Amino acid sequence: MIPTLDDLDVRGARVFVRVDFNVPLRDGAVADATRIDAALPTLRELLDAGATLVLASHLGRPKGPSDDARLAPVADALAARLGRDVRYQPTDGPGSDAQRAFVADAPDGSVTLLENTRFDDREKGNDPGLARIFAEYASVYVDDAFGAAHRAHASTHGVAELLPGAVGRLMERELSVLSRLTDAPDTPFSVILGGAKVSDKIGVIERLLPRIDRLFVGGAMAYTFLAARGGAVGDSLVEPDRYDVARDLLERAAAQGTTLYLPDDSRCAAALEADAEVSVHPSDAIPAGLKGLDAGPDAIRAWRDALAGSRTVFWNGPLGVFEVPPFDTATREIAQVVADLDAFTVVGGGDSVAAVNAVGVADAIDHVSTGGGASLAFLEGEPLPGVEVLRRT
Ligand code: ADP
Ligand code: MG
Repeated sequence: MIPTLDDLDVRGARVFVRVDFNVPLRDGAVADATRIDAALPTLRELLDAGATLVLASHLGRPKGPSDDARLAPVADALAARLGRDVRYQPTDGPGSDAQRAFVADAPDGSVTLLENTRFDDREKGNDPGLARIFAEYASVYVDDAFGAAHRAHASTHGVAELLPGAVGRLMERELSVLSRLTDAPDTPFSVILGGAKVSDKIGVIERLLPRIDRLFVGGAMAYTFLAARGGAVGDSLVEPDRYDVARDLLERAAAQGTTLYLPDDSRCAAALEADAEVSVHPSDAIPAGLKGLDAGPDAIRAWRDALAGSRTVFWNGPLGVFEVPPFDTATREIAQVVADLDAFTVVGGGDSVAAVNAVGVADAIDHVSTGGGASLAFLEGEPLPGVEVLRRT
């Protein structure tokens, strides 16, 4: 079994909590605090139980210490939400003498946020020396960083081998929701996949295909499927080395009764610019020189109809280049359709989550996952190292 907070005694303990505070920053402040908010139940529960917290997270992909990847704005945002002081000291990274002294000074019941774990490349290397330093900071380990659970790093894996540990409430909920999708989804089960690359999502399609009733493939991915079927997709983004896989999936879907929907039409432009001249074409007859950048109006109408009656929906990946209007149209409209369904709805993936937030329908989605890569890895059936290391027999 995977232990949870119910299985830990944290009274008076120092608890090392791996959180996922990998949030977008803008002008030196947190631009979207979804991931911070998602960790609050665990942090409050631990504090109420009398724990002293040492929090660790990565942020971005810094190569060594860098001022624009410091966790100072996160400490401010967290303090405002918790309504209490959050100790934070900019250091060159985890395990420095300055950090050890700072943690040693933490008063009972306080919250200390460590500097970006990725300032030290021993983090990604799952280095035992760094894991030992983390383990000295606390007597108990809690992992609530679902978004990082598919990585075996010093703060998600190495340290967990050295301390008694458990998953936090966020991780617990993520795992139970996603298990519901892999084990026993209420049917009809619809899966909507978009985004840039087929290669990112192929594993999920292969694993879930036997359970999916209706599979909607949008985003740039769709053009690889359409081209593999012999369609003319103009200059749309395709992965020719995936045509075979795409053809194979089309055949398997047909053979086992999964209805696969590709966008009938596409909103196209010669270049990705907000003021570009936009035209709509059948997705398998896009003129040379034009790129399919969003699903078109017929596709949206057809998908709306085909999604009706679904009892479970999983969505990962935007259906167009939603960062650049008007190519956000399909993503926005389908987000609204999904939110209005009387179904168990789950959205995962950084860009997809940004899209449901932008449309303002996140509250109408049953579960907005904080992990993109981690949710896909889980659905593919891959063990999550950050979770498996905590498993007890
Ligand atoms: P998520 O973060 O939700 O998992 P991905 O990272 O897989 O999603 O894909 C998101 C990216 O896919 C976005 O940057 C979006 O612009 C891009 N994308 C979607 N549709 C297209 C398209 N038709 N052509 C090019 N890029 C696209
Ligand atoms: Mg993404």
